[in-house]
Amino acid sequence: MDLPKLAIAALGGTVSMQASHAGEGVIPTVSGETLLQSLPELSTLARINVETLGLLPSASLDFEFLLSVLHWANEQISQGAVGVVITQGTDTLEETATFFDYLWNHNEPLVVTGAMRSAAQAGADGPANLLDACRVALAENSRHRGVQVVMNGQIHAANAVRKIDSLALQAFASPVSGPVGLLIENTVRYLRPPAQRRVLPMPQRCAKVALLEASLSADTLLLENIVDLGYDGLVIAGFGAGHVSGQWAAVIESITQKIPVIVATRTGSGSTAQCSYGFIGGEMDLIRKGAAMAGCLCPRKARILLWLLIGCQRQGDLARYLKDE
Ligand code: ASP
Repeated sequence: MDLPKLAIAALGGTVSMQASHAGEGVIPTVSGETLLQSLPELSTLARINVETLGLLPSASLDFEFLLSVLHWANEQISQGAVGVVITQGTDTLEETATFFDYLWNHNEPLVVTGAMRSAAQAGADGPANLLDACRVALAENSRHRGVQVVMNGQIHAANAVRKIDSLALQAFASPVSGPVGLLIENTVRYLRPPAQRRVLPMPQRCAKVALLEASLSADTLLLENIVDLGYDGLVIAGFGAGHVSGQWAAVIESITQKIPVIVATRTGSGSTAQCSYGFIGGEMDLIRKGAAMAGCLCPRKARILLWLLIGCQRQGDLARYLKDE
């Protein structure tokens, strides 16, 4: 029987990390090809094309590089792959998954995974996560679901997943909605039907979008200079349901005249409000002053959406994209 084609790209991260000498910290050195050597059973499930596209800590990934990864993944699908798996560092995985999801224009699944423990650590989770990710990418019921994150036996939708712990094995969660699926005895089980997807055109230019977090008694110096510094858009990680101080609110009003501003919640879970709080700096005031509310989209993901919308000159569609978040 002809096995399905599966494409795997390694970008680096803890899953690819080891120490070259005892006592030194781990760095990304393990290629995708070597990662697969620990998973001999994969060759009974699929014909694999594995490539090492990078060996980077995920803090050093950037949008330009991710666009080249996306180009590679698109090619794999046009050459007959039934799915694509990307291994990378977990630190920015919630952002890269969102980035890919807004641009992934295929019914075939793209699955992102990584590891919390490096290869030499006892109980390393990389091989199990990679095998799970491959099972998800190969599963028929994963089609039409866009980009998903597979970690620790759970499947998460790209727009919902967040890294919620710095070092724990259970480091990923979808705080509002929970995981969309689970791996149960090697079977891919979904808990919800696929959600409707909206794919953006490829960005034509590299926008500059700032992300500022509101904090108690913060001054307005950075905020006041955002436009002069050349930023094309601004995301604010606001207090609670999307709030800022009265001082910040006044500056935000002048910024929204010039560039789009999104206000998200810095709480780590939940939605921004629309019509609950009437104080200066509350969400009703900020909406009146021209800001858009992010809904359940976290500040980092909101920044990705704004970067992509500005990059393809669709910032006018921002409200429509945020409506269902
Ligand atoms: N701690 C990170 C990881 O889990 C390092 C990185 O993101 O590259 O992979």
